[in-house]
Amino acid sequence: MTKCAAPACRNDAPGRHGIFCVDHYFLLPKAYTGLLTRMKIECGRCEDADTKKHLEEQLAAYINVVIGKLPPEARNSQAALDSARRSTNDPAAGAHDQRRLL
Ligand SMILES: [Zn+2]
Repeated sequence: MTKCAAPACRNDAPGRHGIFCVDHYFLLPKAYTGLLTRMKIECGRCEDADTKKHLEEQLAAYINVVIGKLPPEARNSQAALDSARRSTNDPAAGAHDQRRLL
């Protein structure tokens, strides 16, 4: 199992070609997730080391672009979301939680 590519998401990405967990997958437009899955499969099938490295770099760059398409609340880490629910008037609490996780 690979971890979901969304920042600090604690869920696993399902399947051999999963990049995002189910929650994040469905937050993204189908066009993005479809293309990412294709790129990931292409990457896995590639036998030439140089081409594979190039594909992996492209995939990583595209994952970053797609993360930028997530709604703002889904882009934040799970820890930040949790602490935001606990305390809405202390903005430092989220950052502290995040540091502890790293
Ligand atoms: Zn996720």
